[in-house]
Amino acid sequence: MSGHMSPEEFRRFGRQVVDWIADYYAGIESHPVRSQVRPGQVRAQLPAHPPERGEPFEQVLRDLDAVLMPGVTHWQHPNFFAYFPANATGPAILGDLLSSGLGVQGMVWATSPACTELETVVVDWLAELLGLPEHFRTDAAGGGVIQDSASSAALVAALAALHRASGGRVAREGITRRHTLYVSAHTHSSLERAARMVGVGADNVRVVDVDPATLGMDPAHLAALIAEDLAAGAVPTMVCATVGTTSTTAIDPVRAIGEVCRARGVWLHVDAAYAGVAAVCPELRWINDGVAEFADSYCTNPHKWLLTNFDCSVLWMADRAPMIDALSILPEYLRNPATTSGEVIDYRDWQVPLGRRFRSLKLWSVLRWYGAEGLREHIRGTIGLAQEFASWVRDDPRFELLEPHPFALVCFRPRFPELSTEEADERIFAIMESLNESGELYLTHTKVDGRMLLRVAIGSPQTEQRHVRAAWKRIQEAFTA
Ligand SMILES: *Cc1c(COP(=O)(O)O)cnc(C)c1O
Repeated sequence: MSGHMSPEEFRRFGRQVVDWIADYYAGIESHPVRSQVRPGQVRAQLPAHPPERGEPFEQVLRDLDAVLMPGVTHWQHPNFFAYFPANATGPAILGDLLSSGLGVQGMVWATSPACTELETVVVDWLAELLGLPEHFRTDAAGGGVIQDSASSAALVAALAALHRASGGRVAREGITRRHTLYVSAHTHSSLERAARMVGVGADNVRVVDVDPATLGMDPAHLAALIAEDLAAGAVPTMVCATVGTTSTTAIDPVRAIGEVCRARGVWLHVDAAYAGVAAVCPELRWINDGVAEFADSYCTNPHKWLLTNFDCSVLWMADRAPMIDALSILPEYLRNPATTSGEVIDYRDWQVPLGRRFRSLKLWSVLRWYGAEGLREHIRGTIGLAQEFASWVRDDPRFELLEPHPFALVCFRPRFPELSTEEADERIFAIMESLNESGELYLTHTKVDGRMLLRVAIGSPQTEQRHVRAAWKRIQEAFTA
């Protein structure tokens, strides 16, 4: 084997790969959901040194089956209920393949105008589909951009917030004053990481209390912390409100938090990584309450629940200027007439890396294949299954159910009245592990107020009612044996 793969060879192997993927989905239920390999097992079966001579592509496919597949956890399996879903679908896979095929690096408009302009159209479409405010549209002061992840979106938002709060000084001089950032105990860890990365520091991340009934951030405590920090000479810089926390899908009161931010001139970032896409359904638009009036930045991940392969996280800005001012540098080698004219968008200034993939192709492909109707059907279908699951838990006195559960995640706890909380947690963890080890289903856990809860997140397009029913039966048996 030597030289490049010819178009004819590519056609042949490409068909094999597409067939392989189609067969994979057709037979996905034959795999254990969570990989059963031991640490190091995959690596031990791979050569320690790279090949000197090229090998036939068939051998790659053979090793994929023999060596790698046992080490794969099947996120698209209908019995995958862990974490949050990371949907993959036919149109998204094909859109991503086309992006790979084109091999475009769309750092500035001129390096592939279609890469930039399709992205603009697609993020504006998505803003419309989710009922997000007009000023998030690219034709207004704001605009959206596809990031690799909500973590990157939080980092970009924090950079923009620091830029605004310091009047641009941070970009020139670095951090010269104490800046503070506000989260709750349920905010995603990416916010603390963003604070560390931008130089705010973990000690300046203030943890606001939550309402014990809703687990949403307490705006009165937020106001008190901001006042305290101001009095101490700090610069309150950004608040992160979450719509659908990772732990339990709790919702922070964005409007009330926004009012506190507005009064103090603090940047409000809304992290709706998982749940934001639910607003594609008009009956769930209430989750956007306060976003139009108060959010400076907003993020949701089509790569979780909206049928689009990882990675695809959309970040919108109410005003794109602070972000661009914080990140834009024009080295000589990137100078080009389109950029200089100011008529085009260069998305490199809207993200941390310079280079960027043609990610809009897969989202475009998904939005066109499903249409708004199909997207709503997926969200409603998975929420419906989750609500059914929750009703079974509620009806079984051997379990307690965490309310509310407005999306497709259900948190619950088996009751062990004879055990202490600690002993019960250990028992629950051990039983959950044995269920996951069985390969029949995969669920994860969280802790709220020091007590363990099991999480069942429904989201795979492969999941039908029979899978959820069987999972509940398995869970009942395991925890009440
Ligand atoms: C999943 C999640 C994130 C992180 O998402 P990535 O795209 O993997 O970085 C952030 N916030 C919330 C609320 C999440 O659920």
